[in-house]
Amino acid sequence: MFDHPSFDAHQGVHAFHDPASGLRAIIAVHSTALGPAAGGCRMWHYADGAAMLTDALRLSQGMSYKNAVAGLDLGGGKAVIWGNPRTDKTEALFEAFGLAVESLGGSYYTAEDVGISTADMAIVRRKTAFVAGLPEGLGASGDPSPVTARGVFEGIRAACARAFGTDDLSGRTVAVQGVGHVGGYVCDHLAAAGAKLILADINAELLAEVATRTGGHVVGPDEIYDAQADVFSPNALGAVVNPQTLPRLMVKVVAGGANNQLATPAMGEALAARGILYAPDYVINGGGIINVAAEIRARQAGLPHDGGWVEAKLSALTRTLEQVLDEALREGLPTHVVADRLARLRIAAARP
Ligand code: NAD
Repeated sequence: MFDHPSFDAHQGVHAFHDPASGLRAIIAVHSTALGPAAGGCRMWHYADGAAMLTDALRLSQGMSYKNAVAGLDLGGGKAVIWGNPRTDKTEALFEAFGLAVESLGGSYYTAEDVGISTADMAIVRRKTAFVAGLPEGLGASGDPSPVTARGVFEGIRAACARAFGTDDLSGRTVAVQGVGHVGGYVCDHLAAAGAKLILADINAELLAEVATRTGGHVVGPDEIYDAQADVFSPNALGAVVNPQTLPRLMVKVVAGGANNQLATPAMGEALAARGILYAPDYVINGGGIINVAAEIRARQAGLPHDGGWVEAKLSALTRTLEQVLDEALREGLPTHVVADRLARLRIAAARP
């Protein structure tokens, strides 16, 4: 663990196994300097346990940075469950996961991420109160992905303003990878703004639905990297900007909701060297955790969900993204370097 390339002085990395339900999960708490760690739960059919651990370590560090730049009083953590979200879900599995979250005594709050629905979180709630993104109950904020998608859409506009001199998306071509919860809503916003869409997803049914709704042109999962587009918007899984895909990208902007888009930090430098403006993932996709934070806040205060607070935080997040992009362009630095610097500053300032 301590020699793992993605280990970043994580505060705690907890492995859970429940033979009765088949639960195999890792909860990684990266930092609680700013408050209790918060971050979604991902369910995925990982190739092996090592891939699962790497995901937990990287995603939880990303949450620390994301919560810090979003101006939230929350630290960073993430949960991963090993399994196929389409075939392996049971109530017992999510109850066992709820007990795992409960055992951490509130140092980690969970919510939805890839492969997890609000209905799954409602089952988790039976065993722990340290869960957000619930469909109902006091302060419930529901599915965070519409808020995430709105932030991503505003972020695409902010990046386009800098790359093309205008944030008008009419006629602009956006290649969207992943049309799930976040990607689907992003597509709706883009289509409404007049953008032309090129779409890819491994879920053919969902892809056809979104393509019909938005008038998007469908390409194969691997063809999306070669799309003749202005913007590449990754909204599926991580590490999609890597040495194999980077030379294929024809776009001027990479901006999407997926976490951990860069396979390595060197990819951020390579994007900048190629003149591609990258909206750092954890800055542009902070809308969902803002929504989750509103729920945690509301529950602690015994008040209903405060939509106005969410809107104010989301606007501030877009301003932060603009600041990161402008600083990077002014100082000739890759955007992820500027974002990391800002996040580390905010975390360091909170440490006693
Ligand atoms: P989701 O499971 O609803 O959607 C992901 C989609 O990506 C699915 O439709 C899946 O079929 C597709 N996909 C998987 N592999 C693919 C591939 N190789 N090529 C094309 N498509 C592929 O998940 P989501 O909640 O929409 O999350 C998407 C991304 O956004 C994730 O990286 C997640 O961590 C990140 N994110 C989500 C939120 C949120 O509010 N849900 C917030 C912040 C970040």
